[in-house]
Amino acid sequence: MTSISRRVVLITGAASGIGLAAARAFSQAEDSVILSDIDGSLAIKQAEKLGPSHMGIKLDVAQESSVNDAIAAILSRYGRIDVLINNAGIVDPKGTPAINKDLNEVEHILRVNLEGCYTMARVVGQSMLQRGQGVIVNVASMAGVMAIPGRTAYSMSKGAVLGFTRALACEWAAKGIRVNAVLPGYVATEIVRSLVENQQVETRQVNRRIPLGRMAEPEEIAEPIVWAASNTYLTGSQITVDGGYHAYGGSGP
Ligand code: NAD
Repeated sequence: MTSISRRVVLITGAASGIGLAAARAFSQAEDSVILSDIDGSLAIKQAEKLGPSHMGIKLDVAQESSVNDAIAAILSRYGRIDVLINNAGIVDPKGTPAINKDLNEVEHILRVNLEGCYTMARVVGQSMLQRGQGVIVNVASMAGVMAIPGRTAYSMSKGAVLGFTRALACEWAAKGIRVNAVLPGYVATEIVRSLVENQQVETRQVNRRIPLGRMAEPEEIAEPIVWAASNTYLTGSQITVDGGYHAYGGSGP
């Protein structure tokens, strides 16, 4: 079994963006990090760069069998998972109005963004409940509390993740498990880059609506994720990290 430095942290969607930045931040805090992603080979490559106490693995949060297999492999190597970061997520790629949306696309977004969190929490939660300790951080979005026109499925999924966070936090608090959500605003990652490339998002227009005048860097979201996983009195909370976007109050561009 791998020698464990401090906490054992499992991150979904960790091959890029916010998940990768969080993996780096936890590793800098001397934690052992499992970088999981539907792109298993990239997750393995990224883990190798972090060092030998870390691990990369293929895990598709939308496939229960993939989740079960990966968690079994992780537990056999590390013996436990202390922290679960439910970060994997996808967005409505075309911004189609709700009335015209392809229901298969809506279902797929809900399966990854919402059911993915639930499946991960249930499978990892079994071992956390047995040990009577654990922490879960769900990466939601400002889209869960504000309208982002054209991203109906994404907004539905992220709003539901917030409800799930509150419900699970209350159910598991007495069992030693804390559950919180981090709500990023716009972050300069692949999700946003592809929307910009497809002319779904116009960077200058977005930046005008953000009081701090720019999108976040992934590291600026990783930091509150690490904090949410570490503070011992935090549960059922929503931590907004959006450059003032919500305070500004307008609906998204
Ligand atoms: P990203 O595209 O860089 O990273 C997402 C990662 O999830 C990718 O590595 C991808 O391969 C992986 N992934 C996709 N489907 C998966 C699946 N079924 N199983 C496992 N992994 C899967 O994007 P990001 O911005 O880093 O997104 C991370 C999280 O942050 C998402 O939940 C996203 O909704 C949320 N978020 C992002 C922004 C933003 O502006 N970038 C804003 C608010 C919330």
